[in-house]
Amino acid sequence: MILDHSRRPRNRGKLGEGAVHVHGDNPSCGDELDLWIRFAPDGRIEDIKFSGQGCAISQASASMMTVTVKGRSADEASRVAGAVHALVTGSAQGENPDSLGDLQLLEGVRHFPQRVKCATLGWRAMEEALRLHAAQPATGEVSSEI
Ligand code: ZN
Repeated sequence: MILDHSRRPRNRGKLGEGAVHVHGDNPSCGDELDLWIRFAPDGRIEDIKFSGQGCAISQASASMMTVTVKGRSADEASRVAGAVHALVTGSAQGENPDSLGDLQLLEGVRHFPQRVKCATLGWRAMEEALRLHAAQPATGEVSSEI
């Protein structure tokens, strides 16, 4: 499943006008990611795309993230991001992993602490985009680095 996402990433590309853009780096591995989110007027994630390069885990996790949060509200998306973070770091809190579906596959990352930043790069970028949108909902085309 993870290999499938890394070989054939979903929602790859970029968004133009009105999209929030976040660039994320993981220098310890060399992963790079650009993420674009277009928000609907009601705050839902209407469209999401990413581009980047790096290890299979970083690209697969970002691909799975886009599939998971597309169409969701900001609250739902950040709740899932928190659950994924708890899953890959092995911290006990967070929601029942069963509700994470395929994302549970990321759990194996907790045995490789140096890969945690690979697996969370896309999720951190997505949370930063949510933060930017919440701070400046009407501006569009804002951009940030994480
Ligand atoms: Zn990596």
